Amino acid sequence: SVLRAEHIWLDGKLVKWDEGSVHVMTHALHYGLGVFEGIRAYKTHDGRLAVFRLREHIQRLLDSAHIIMLHIPYTEDQLVEATLELLRQQKHLFANGAYLRPVAFMGDGAMGLGAVNPTRVAVTAWDWGAYLGDKGIREGIRAKVSSFTRMHVNVNMVRGKITGQYVNSILAKREAVLAGYDEAILLDISGFVAEASGENIFMVNKKGIIKTPPLSSPILDGITRDTVLKLLRDSGRQVEEVTFTRDALYICNEIFFTGTAAEITPVREVDNRQVGEGKPGPIGRFVQDAYFKVVRGQDDRYADWLTYV
Ligand code: PMP
Repeated sequence: SVLRAEHIWLDGKLVKWDEGSVHVMTHALHYGLGVFEGIRAYKTHDGRLAVFRLREHIQRLLDSAHIIMLHIPYTEDQLVEATLELLRQQKHLFANGAYLRPVAFMGDGAMGLGAVNPTRVAVTAWDWGAYLGDKGIREGIRAKVSSFTRMHVNVNMVRGKITGQYVNSILAKREAVLAGYDEAILLDISGFVAEASGENIFMVNKKGIIKTPPLSSPILDGITRDTVLKLLRDSGRQVEEVTFTRDALYICNEIFFTGTAAEITPVREVDNRQVGEGKPGPIGRFVQDAYFKVVRGQDDRYADWLTYV
């Protein structure tokens, strides 16, 4: 289905969806110098719409831009307000939730790698269901370790969510999907597990120890990863942020992916090897339930993470 809404926030004002175009000479289109975010707004239990961890996402957008020295001519507050305004204007479209996509990139003007053109900034919202499918969320997905390596921390700026860097993710994702799997798991240059093409990864080993790769790995500092670490630790469970090998995944009890788009998606098979009992395990289920309660405003301990539209 074609993604469509009524308005887009573009360079400081709301414009009609069809007016959200840029010139083919847009610098970022040629060289990939841009940054973006993926944010979700959920319908809360009392019927209101709330954006999950909005400030953290906008802060990461600004950090990403700072890393690549892309000047964003708006403050954090202005971008937060732009996002909320976009949702308020289209409340009738997004009563059941929305996916939000702020993006900032070098616009047109001069060409060449040394050019510095004015930055364009947009926020778009659309209706996006479970990224890896409702069935994936319910029953788990099949993943494949990719032949593509997550790039070294001195090649990719891994603390940034940078548009050009996603070619690596797309190569991995397409390879996995064309081979009949749902998602790709990328290893770092030493062969340790890093993350999926658009999600962070958690596993539970046979001793019941929960592990996720550390932030010194070439992974995005995922906001869902951070949320899940907090939910697990606040529930009295320990989580180790350590590197582990691909074969540790082959013999573990549970694997799940975390991400704004994918939410909490269990993995039931890796490289044709069944994971645990081949269905979502108890820790993954716990995290899923806890996460959906938090984003829907049903857990007062985490009310600060919600910004009501
Ligand atoms: N890793 C990559 C490569 C991603 O693109 C994403 C999605 N932004 C994530 C992890 C998960 O990050 P978050 O939980 O902040 O959405």
